[in-house]
Amino acid sequence: MIFKKKFFIITAHPDDIESGCGGLVSRVIASGGSVTNLILVKPSAEHNTKRDQFIVSAELEKSRKILNFKTMIYDTPLHENGRPNLTLSNNLISYVESHIDKHDILISHWKEDHHQDHRVCYDVARSVARKGFEQFWCMDASPYNLHYKQFDCNHYVDITDHVQQKRKALESYATYFSAASIDAIINYNKYRGSFLGENKVAETFHLMYNKI
Ligand SMILES: [Zn+2]
Repeated sequence: MIFKKKFFIITAHPDDIESGCGGLVSRVIASGGSVTNLILVKPSAEHNTKRDQFIVSAELEKSRKILNFKTMIYDTPLHENGRPNLTLSNNLISYVESHIDKHDILISHWKEDHHQDHRVCYDVARSVARKGFEQFWCMDASPYNLHYKQFDCNHYVDITDHVQQKRKALESYATYFSAASIDAIINYNKYRGSFLGENKVAETFHLMYNKI
């Protein structure tokens, strides 16, 4: 059963796994699987004056305890102003490859995502996807899916029983998500769930390959 597998999810920031696939994470953990979230942009200086690295770290820890995933955080290079400087490099890919450690399913952002750090994650995932995973999925993450043109929404995960856990995890990021932005994410999941049946909620993905 797919939800008993070991998932390796490469995201840019704390909060990405929750918005993109928090329901899936809850379902995998409830089914006896495991989730490792590799975060490529460590908590650091923020534009948002309500946030700093300590607040972001505390919010991540709160969410992690709700959803029970494991985290690995890359020691991201910083600009002189303290802001993260995530760039694609051979060293970054080697670092990620050295931390894959026998996972079954790889997930990351999609290449048309409008956040530059998310697109770096896609490029990293695309390279490390050759390393023995059974499947590779890309997330359909609102609102970053605004300009998706090539995304084939061909993989649905029913999160109806896990949407409250997803909402709680999103609420952990109290200095980032507003009530309206959380509703927007969940409403998108409800729209996708409507294709599964009445009152269903779903997260959607592009299945890049399936080697099972
Ligand atoms: Zn992000």
